[in-house]
Amino acid sequence: MALVRVALPVPLRRLFDYRLPPGVEARPGMRVRVPFGRREHIGVVMALTDESEVAPARLKAVHEVLDEAPLLDAAMRALLEWAAGYYHHPIGEVVASALPVRLRQGAPARGEGVPLWRAEPEATPESVPARASRQRGLLQRLQQAGEAGLDALALEALEAPGWREALKKLEARGLVRREQRPCWQQGEVAAPRPGPPLNEAQQAAVATVTSALDSAQVFLLQGVTGSGKTEVYLRIIEQVLARGAQALVLVPEIGLTPQLVRRFRERLGGGIAVLHSGLNDRERHCAWQQAASGAARVVIGTRSAVFTPLPRLGLVVVDEEHDASLKQQEGFRYHARDLAVMRAWRAGVPALLGSATPTLEALQRVREGAWRRLSLPARAGAAVAPRMGLVDLRADAGEEGLSQVLLGAMQRHLEAGNQVLLFLNRRGWAPVLLCQGCGHIALCHRCDARLTWHARQRLLRCHHCGHEERPPERCPACGAPDLVGLGQGTQRVEEALARHFPGLAVERIDRDSTARRGALEAALERARSGEARILIGTQMLAKGHDFPGVTLVGMLDADQGLFSADLRAAERMAQLIVQVAGRAGRGERPGEVLIQTRQPEHPLLQALVREGYEAVAERLLDERRAAGLPPFGHLALLRCESSDETAGAEWLQGLVEGLAPPPGVQLWGPVPAPMARRAGRWRHHLLLQAGTRPPLHGAIEQLLARIESDPGARRLRWSLDVDPVDLY
Ligand code: ADP
Ligand code: ZN
Repeated sequence: MALVRVALPVPLRRLFDYRLPPGVEARPGMRVRVPFGRREHIGVVMALTDESEVAPARLKAVHEVLDEAPLLDAAMRALLEWAAGYYHHPIGEVVASALPVRLRQGAPARGEGVPLWRAEPEATPESVPARASRQRGLLQRLQQAGEAGLDALALEALEAPGWREALKKLEARGLVRREQRPCWQQGEVAAPRPGPPLNEAQQAAVATVTSALDSAQVFLLQGVTGSGKTEVYLRIIEQVLARGAQALVLVPEIGLTPQLVRRFRERLGGGIAVLHSGLNDRERHCAWQQAASGAARVVIGTRSAVFTPLPRLGLVVVDEEHDASLKQQEGFRYHARDLAVMRAWRAGVPALLGSATPTLEALQRVREGAWRRLSLPARAGAAVAPRMGLVDLRADAGEEGLSQVLLGAMQRHLEAGNQVLLFLNRRGWAPVLLCQGCGHIALCHRCDARLTWHARQRLLRCHHCGHEERPPERCPACGAPDLVGLGQGTQRVEEALARHFPGLAVERIDRDSTARRGALEAALERARSGEARILIGTQMLAKGHDFPGVTLVGMLDADQGLFSADLRAAERMAQLIVQVAGRAGRGERPGEVLIQTRQPEHPLLQALVREGYEAVAERLLDERRAAGLPPFGHLALLRCESSDETAGAEWLQGLVEGLAPPPGVQLWGPVPAPMARRAGRWRHHLLLQAGTRPPLHGAIEQLLARIESDPGARRLRWSLDVDPVDLY
C-alpha cells in the first residue's frame, strides 16, 4: 500500500500516516490536504512508506495533493526534522513555520506576482505641474528604470517620503502603469557599483572566507560598529554570486532598514529578495518563491528567513550575532543564529557571523577553536574610536537625570555644530508614580509590576500587559493629593532638554513616538540629516543606524542592567553600551561617550571603559564557568502559566516527583518566575541544567513523556525553551 507520512500543524510530536488513493502520486516535500478528526488540514509529506502502525482499515486517504513539485527539498526537510528534535517541538508546527502563510493555507505554489510600476512612454516631466515636485521626482526615477520598472521594494529603497501617495496621483494622471511581475522572474539587475578599496584587515577577512567557500567553517567577524563588516559581507557575497551560488543574510529586526537593502541592491546589482515582518502575506510568498526558484540570488531577512529555501546556497551571514531578536520567544522557540550555523554546516558552506559585541557563546566557540575569528580592529575610513568616560551620579545627580558634566559636554558639542544622542531604555515620563504622603506606588493589578506614568497622555500604563488607567486624584492608600512621578523616562528627558537647550530641535525615538506608520522613518531621517540636534531614545536608537553628525553619546542610566538577576543582564548591558557608543563619531569628527552611573567603581563598568568589551566578556565567562552556566553548561526552561496562584506550581511539582533524570542533570524548582504574575496569570518554571547536552535532552524527554500522557496539562499553558536567552 502506498502511504505518506505527513507533518500536520498540530501540537503533537509525530507524523501522521495517510493512504494515497490509487493513481495519486506524492513526493516528500509536497503539500497534501488530509482529513484530521472532523476537520481538514494541510500538511507536508515528509516520507513515503508502505507500512504503518495504524491498522490498514483505519488509515484515511489523502484528499488532495497540492503541489506538482516538492516545496521543501531534502536538505530543508532534514534541517526541520533536526530542529524539531533539538527543540523537542512538534514537527508539524516546525514545518509550518518554514512556510509562508499563504502556502500553509493551500495557495498555489506559484505566487500571484508583485505589483510593478512603469512610466508610460509618452510621459514627460512636463506632464506633471512643477509644484508637484514629489510626483516629478518619482516619475523621473520610473523613467530611469525604463522597461524593468520599479516594485514596492525598489520604491521603498528610494527613501522618497510620500512616494505611495505620489504614485497614486501619477497613476490617476495616466502617466504610470501598474503591472504584475511574476514571482519567479528576477527584478531589475543593474550594473553593480564597486565598493571602496578595502583596508588590510578587511582584505584579510575577505580572503580567508573566500578561500573557504567550499567548506563548512564558521567565522566570527568581530569589529566595532563602523569597522566595515557590511563591506566585508558584500565582498564575500560578490564571490559567492560569481560562482553562481546564493547567499542568505540574516539581520536583526531593527537592522533591516531601507538603507541596508538599498546598499545591497546597489552594490550587488539587484536580484535580492527581502523577508521581514512588514510584508503582507502575498509579498512574503513572492519573496519566498523568488528564493526557491533561484531568481533571487540573495535573501536578506529577519529570524524566520533562516528557513527560506535556496537551491544553490553558498553562504550564510548572520549580522549582529548577539541580537536578541534572533531568538523566537513564543511557539517554536528557536535561535536563528544557531539554526543558521547548523544549516550552513549541513550544506557544507561557510557561516559568517558578525558583531561588535559577540555573545559569550560565540567567544567561547572561538576559544575552543571550533570557530575562527576575523578581527576588524579599527574603524573603516577616517573615523576613529570614541573616548569613553564615567559620570558619578552620586556626586553629580544634576536635574532630571542629566548631570552637570553631561550638560556641559552637550553644550560644547552642540556649539561646535554637532549632534548629541542620549540613551535611556525607559519610555514614558516616569517609571514610578509615588505618593509623597505615604510612599504608596501605583502598581498594575494584573502584573507584579509598577505602572509607568505617561504624563503627556495623562495615563498610567503597564509595559508588560498593556493595561492603562487614569491616575487617581488622590493617593488610594492615604488620601494625600501629592502624587509625583519618580525617576526619568524618555518623555521627561525630552521636556528637560527643551528647557536646557531652547530653540534646538529634539527628536525622541521610542515605541510611543514611532507607533504611527512611517513615523520611525521620518524621525530617523531628521536624525540623519542633522535637522534634529539632540536625539533621545530607547534601544531603537542603539542599533544599525548611522548618524554621521553625532559626536557625543550619553548613557543616562547604566545601572539598569548591572543589578538585574537575569542570566544575561550584564552581558546585554555591556553590549548595549558598546553599541550605543558606536553611534558616536562615525563621521570624520571624533566621538565622546559619557556613561552615567551610581556605581562608577563597578568592576564591569571599569573594565568596559578601560579595556573594552573583550575584557568584560572575559570576566563574565569566568563567572559563567564557575556557575556551570552557558556556554559551559546547558539550560532548558519549562514554563507554566495558570489562572490561579498555585495550580502551576503544583502541576510542575507533580511532574518532577519521582522523576529520575539522567546523571549530570540538575532540576531547579519549580519556582515562581521573576515576574510571578503577568497579565493576570501566575507564572512558574522549572529550570534544567547540565554540563553536557545528551543527559539534558534525556531529562527533557522524560518530562515531555509525562506531560504528553497527562490530561491535566491541557488546563494550563506550558512551554519548553531549550537554550533560553532569558529566564523570565
Ligand atoms: P559596519 O557594518 O561594521 O558597521 P560598514 O561596512 O557599514 O561597517 O562601514 C561603515 C562605513 O564605512 C560605511 O559608510 C562604509 O561605506 C564605509 N567603509 C567601509 N569600508 C571602507 C573602506 N575600506 N574604506 C572607506 N570606507 C569604508
Ligand atoms: Zn500589567
